Amino acid sequence: MCGIFAVVNDPDHHAAQTTLDGLKKLEYRGYDSWGIAVVEHKNGTLAIEKHIGKIGGATTALPAGDIAIGHTRWATHGGVTDGNAHPHVDCSGRIVVIHNGIVENYQELKQMLLRRHHRFTSETDTEVIAHLIEDRVKSESVETAVLGVFKNLAGSNAIVVLDAKTNTIVACRNGSPLAAGVGKGQFFLASDVTPFLKFTRDVVFLADGEAVILTATKLRLLDIKTGKDKRLTPRRLDWKLEDAEKGGYPHFLLKEIMDQVTTVPKTALINRNEIAHVARRLERADRIVFTACGTASYCALAATYFFSGVGRETKSYGAYEYTPFSGFAGKKTVLFAISQSGETADTLIAARNAKARGAYVVAVVNARGSALERLADTTLPVGSGPEIAVVSTKAFTSQLATMYLVSRACTGNYARAVREVQDLGKTLRRWQTKKLRHDVLDLAKTLMNQEDIYIVGKHVSYPAALEVALKIKESSYIHAEPFAAGELKHGVLTLIQKGTPCIAIGANDETRLELLSSAAELRARGGTIIGITPFTSAEFDVTVKTPDAGPLTIIPNVIVGQLLGYYLGIGRGTDPDKPRNLAKSVTVK
Ligand code: GLU
Repeated sequence: MCGIFAVVNDPDHHAAQTTLDGLKKLEYRGYDSWGIAVVEHKNGTLAIEKHIGKIGGATTALPAGDIAIGHTRWATHGGVTDGNAHPHVDCSGRIVVIHNGIVENYQELKQMLLRRHHRFTSETDTEVIAHLIEDRVKSESVETAVLGVFKNLAGSNAIVVLDAKTNTIVACRNGSPLAAGVGKGQFFLASDVTPFLKFTRDVVFLADGEAVILTATKLRLLDIKTGKDKRLTPRRLDWKLEDAEKGGYPHFLLKEIMDQVTTVPKTALINRNEIAHVARRLERADRIVFTACGTASYCALAATYFFSGVGRETKSYGAYEYTPFSGFAGKKTVLFAISQSGETADTLIAARNAKARGAYVVAVVNARGSALERLADTTLPVGSGPEIAVVSTKAFTSQLATMYLVSRACTGNYARAVREVQDLGKTLRRWQTKKLRHDVLDLAKTLMNQEDIYIVGKHVSYPAALEVALKIKESSYIHAEPFAAGELKHGVLTLIQKGTPCIAIGANDETRLELLSSAAELRARGGTIIGITPFTSAEFDVTVKTPDAGPLTIIPNVIVGQLLGYYLGIGRGTDPDKPRNLAKSVTVK
C-alpha cells in the first residue's frame, strides 16, 4: 500500500528533491519508512538514502541528478527498519527497485537466488525483484528483463525499476495503482496523480498488465504479456494543484472537511447521463446490491435506506463478507461497488465475483483511472477531488449524495434531488462557520480524556452513527462504539455509567421520538447525552445543531462527527492526516 514516485529529466538536476516533494504528497499511503535513489549527474553512480519514520519534515542530502525513484513504505514483509526501507538494490549496484504490493512467491524465489549466491540485505519480499533482474540483464535488455521477471511474480504488485547503467526506468502494474505524468520534456510516475500535478495534468493511468519505459527522450507504453508497444493517449485531468494543497489549513483532514461546502453540491452537477442509464438498468433489476469497505460501506448501508424510501428493497455487504452471497448474483443483479480509490482489494474481488456471474457493475469512485473503473460497466465518479488525509471525509459525503441521486432517479425525481443536493451545498456554506468549529472544539475538550464514547442512531442515522464512531476511532484512537438506537435495551445499557458520553444522532424524520426515548434511557443510567440533530431537546445535555436536510441530514450530521474526530485527535496529539497503522487505499486483501 506504499507510495511510489519517479522522475526522469529533472530540469535543474534536482531529481532527488523533486522525488522527496512528491513522496510527501504520498505519505498517506504508508509512513513506516521512506527512501530515494538518484543517479548522480556527475558520474552516473547510484546514490541512495533511506530512513524509518514519516517523511513529513525530511530533507535530503542526495547529490544532483536528473533521474530518481522514491518510496514511502507500509510494511508487509520485514520489520520497520532502515534496511527494509525501499529502494532495494541488486548485488552489482546497477538495478534499484521500489515496490507496492506483496510478492507472494518470494520465499521460493529467494531460496533459488541464495543458491546462486546473491547477497540479501533486507528481509523484504521486494528485494528478490532486484536480484532476479540482475541475473537477466547480463544477457537481456533491461526492458525485457523487467517484463520477464514481473511475469513470474505472484500477487498484486506494481514495481518501478531504475537501471543506473542505461538511465532507464521500467515500471509494471498488476493490481497496485500506477499513473504516468507526461510533462514538458519530463516524465513522472506515481501511485496517484497528486505529486506531479504541479508539473503536468496529462496522465496515463496504467491498466493491469501494462508497463511503461521512461528514458530521457521517450515514454513508451507496453503490454507486459506480449512485450508489444501500445498507443499512448494521455488524459487531461481537471484536478487543480490547489486541490492537493492544504490551502491555509493546518491539516488536510480539516481542509477536506471544510471543502465539503463545495464538493457536495458539485456532485449534483456530474453523472447526469450515467445516472439516467443506471436508473434504466435498475428498472429491470431483480437484485440491487451495494458493496464496499470501511467508510464507503456505511455509504452502502445508507443507500439501502435511500432506496427503501423509494420502495426498492436492496442489500448492502461489507465487500470482505460478500463471497458467500456472490452466488446469488445473476444477469438481473446490479451491484454498486463503492470505493474512494477504486483500488480497494476486497471491493474489487466482490465486483469481479458478481460480474463473473453476469451482474451489471456500477463503480462509485472518487479517484480516476482505477482498477474498479476499468472493471465496471458504468462508473459514477463522485468528483470530490484528491482526498489526501487517510481518514475519508469529502469522498464519503459525495458518495452519499451520488447514491441519493441514483435512488431518486429511479422514481423520476432526479431533477428534484439535484436541487436538494445543491440547496444542501448553500446550507452547508451558511452553517459550516467558525462558530460551528468552535462549538465542536469546545465539545471535543470535554471528551478528550474519555476512554469510551457510545453513539446511537436509527434508520438512516444508524450508518451516520457507524461513520461518526469510525471518525472518532481513526482520528483520536478513542474507543467509540456505535449502536442502532433500538439495540440499546438488548445489552448495551450495561456499559452506561455516570458521566459516560453518549452521542445521539438523528434527523427530523419518523425516528425522532424513538431517538429521544433512547437518549432518555441512556440518561437515566447516568449517561451524558450529546445530540447531533436538527432539533434541540431537554433530553440532551449538549446539542450541536445541524441543518434539516431531509434524508440528506446524514451529511451535516456526519460532518459534525468528522470535526469532532479531528479536534479530539489534535487534543490527544495524534497526527490527524496519518493515523497510526492505517493506509489510505487498502490494496491488499
Ligand atoms: N511488500 C513490500 C514491503 O513490505 C512493499 C509494501 C508496500 O507496498 O509498501 O516492503
